[in-house]
Amino acid sequence: MDLKNYFTTNEIKCKCCGGLPSNDYTEMYERLSKARIQANTLFIINRWYSCKKHNDEVKGVPSSLHLTAYAVDIRCTNSVERAKIVFSLICNGFNEIIIHKTFVHAGIDKKNTVLTLGMEM
Ligand SMILES: [Zn+2]
Ligand SMILES: [Zn+2]
Repeated sequence: MDLKNYFTTNEIKCKCCGGLPSNDYTEMYERLSKARIQANTLFIINRWYSCKKHNDEVKGVPSSLHLTAYAVDIRCTNSVERAKIVFSLICNGFNEIIIHKTFVHAGIDKKNTVLTLGMEM
């Protein structure tokens, strides 16, 4: 399966400076691509990688997975889409899933083996 073209660099880079992470984020990219294929719905990326400055600006936690591009915020405003997206994320190894009113935050925390599911509506 060729997973190279599911998301563009534009979708990954930091919204404030256009920067990309210095670490390898292949696993994240592949898992997100697989989740998107499984969900069979559009993944509109609000935010993926954030540099430290941008993360501070949006009041992200200091240990935010966005700092390594191991988290994305996927726009989502209706329950059916939300259910499809969250289910496919769990199936593909995402273990930090926070449901917000207009988006789903989805991350892979390799230091944590427990699934964290939360809601901030
Ligand atoms: Zn930035
Ligand atoms: Zn997020």
